[in-house]
Amino acid sequence: MKSIGVLALQGGFDPHLRALRKAGADARPVKTWDEIRGRQGLVIPGGESTTIGKLLVLHGLLDSLKELLGDGFPVFGTCAGLILLSQRVVGREQPLLGVLDVDVARNAYGRQTESFETSLPFEGTEKGSVPAVFIRAPQIVRTGPGVQILSVYEDLPVCVRQKNILAAAFHPELTDSAVLHDYFLSLV
Ligand code: GLN
Repeated sequence: MKSIGVLALQGGFDPHLRALRKAGADARPVKTWDEIRGRQGLVIPGGESTTIGKLLVLHGLLDSLKELLGDGFPVFGTCAGLILLSQRVVGREQPLLGVLDVDVARNAYGRQTESFETSLPFEGTEKGSVPAVFIRAPQIVRTGPGVQILSVYEDLPVCVRQKNILAAAFHPELTDSAVLHDYFLSLV
């Protein structure tokens, strides 16, 4: 059974634990360096990317995590997690891991009240589609050459992969589908 840590500093880590367990993984919340690195993969959940970033700095985790992910440790970031993995946030300085060669614009799909759910084509598996919930989601406004686009919504990439790094602008963990969590586990 694959052991996955879900970063539990802030945000929606519980639904990820449920989705990973449904997909057959041994999933646990992680907060410390030893807990993170003792697992086979990491999920960075949605929440507030500025808060999670500041907490990573405060707990002295930002640089070591950057190195671990750069060395190939599997990671899956959703929404705020995608922002933290990205290289740049348009118009803003905030602590980032910067390991995924994309730039993002925060909150570009509208406010909380403009949240929506849709079904998207998904290139990663033969099942072909994923249900996706967008909540104050970031837009991916640039992707580097090594970044594979797995899902597109209205002409913009919303799910991408770069080797060991998987990221989605939306929340697959808030739906009944485990397609993306299954896919992530296949990378571990
Ligand atoms: N808007 C949040 C941010 O910019 C992300 C929202 C989410 O994770 N659902 O950090």
